[in-house]
Amino acid sequence: MTQDTHRNRARTIRQHIVDLLSEDEMSARELSQAIGIREKEVYDHLSHIARSAAAQRKRLIVQPSRCLMCGYVFEDRKRLTRPGRCPRCKRSHLQEPTYRVS
Ligand SMILES: [Zn+2]
Repeated sequence: MTQDTHRNRARTIRQHIVDLLSEDEMSARELSQAIGIREKEVYDHLSHIARSAAAQRKRLIVQPSRCLMCGYVFEDRKRLTRPGRCPRCKRSHLQEPTYRVS
């Protein structure tokens, strides 16, 4: 694949993600299934979208991950990926973060 083809493909995938997230909030896992790319790639695209959305007067809204055991909310988390376990109760039964573009 040439550089250009690769770039175009990335842009197409990002546009697809933006379209989906403009309709409904979704987790990275749901996006990876809907688009057919790996979850790790979804995070790469999401961070790009977070940086570039402002140019289209849009923004990526992150609904933070939450602990299903004690209710801890990962509000201050800067990274887009989902956390491994809860810092308060140390369990790993966590609600995935979801994303939306608006
Ligand atoms: Zn917890």
